[in-house]
Amino acid sequence: IPPSADLIWFNGELVPWHQAQVHVMSHALHYGSSVFEGVRAYKTHKGVCIFKLKEHVSRLFDSAKIYQLEIPYTQAQIVQACIDSVAKNGFESAYIRPLAFIGEIGMGMRTPETSKAEVMVAAFKWEKYLGEDAKSQGVDVCVSSWNRVAPNTLPASAKAGGNYLSSQLITLEAKRNGYDEGIGLDVNGMVSEGALQNLFIVKNNVIYTPQTSSSILVGLTRDTVITLAKNLDCEVKEQPISRESLYLADEFFMTGTASEIVPVRSVDGVLVGDGNRGPITAAMQQAFFGIFEGTTPHIDEWLTPVA
Ligand code: PMP
Repeated sequence: IPPSADLIWFNGELVPWHQAQVHVMSHALHYGSSVFEGVRAYKTHKGVCIFKLKEHVSRLFDSAKIYQLEIPYTQAQIVQACIDSVAKNGFESAYIRPLAFIGEIGMGMRTPETSKAEVMVAAFKWEKYLGEDAKSQGVDVCVSSWNRVAPNTLPASAKAGGNYLSSQLITLEAKRNGYDEGIGLDVNGMVSEGALQNLFIVKNNVIYTPQTSSSILVGLTRDTVITLAKNLDCEVKEQPISRESLYLADEFFMTGTASEIVPVRSVDGVLVGDGNRGPITAAMQQAFFGIFEGTTPHIDEWLTPVA
């Protein structure tokens, strides 16, 4: 079902959803000149709140800086646009999609003079990306025959539209072969990330996740999990992870704004542990959702009220 809402923020104002249109000759459509974010608003113990909103907007501006897209708004204005897109549509929970892109500037590559971006922020209903059951039952994943981008080809740390061509190839292959999601290896053949998720494995009560140099998007859910794990006195190591260590892990889970925290049941048909959600994965889920329920101590700035 296509996403929908009454109003959408487009170039500085809230307009009716169907009025937010671009021309088919938009540069971004032809050449991928766009950067975006995925953010979530939750119904929390403090009312409707957006999770890590400032951090997401800051990453949007970082992505824009990498690609030299000029966003003609301040971070504070985009923060407010996200709040308004949830509040003015009356959502109690929502997925929020800010996007900055190059509009109609003609053909060919752009120059610094033609790099002014258009910006939209949409809020809409999007339940769990990998399905409600995935949270407890886990998902079946495969390692893709497609690697993630090598450093110095396209920057993996920018959340740019074009990077999602890699994610599409990975997901298409995974789904065609009957898996729920695919995982990309990096240019060295070490584990990088899922099509839309960061990865964590647990071995002998230690949590491991690929370090930032493994061509990953430095996920904000990843950061959250690292913080929550440390608060629970669980050791987290960021280091290269081999493909086979996924098979030998006691537990394996994926994180992302859309997916939240999802256990992995099997990799390439090999069961992870006994195939059930492990205790550390469950503890991480409980700590994560506890932020919104008010049962997990957290940094106040992580929750921006939508008032
Ligand atoms: N990697 C990729 C490729 C992603 O698209 C996402 C989702 N934004 C993530 C990791 C997880 O990032 P975050 O936790 O900030 O949503």
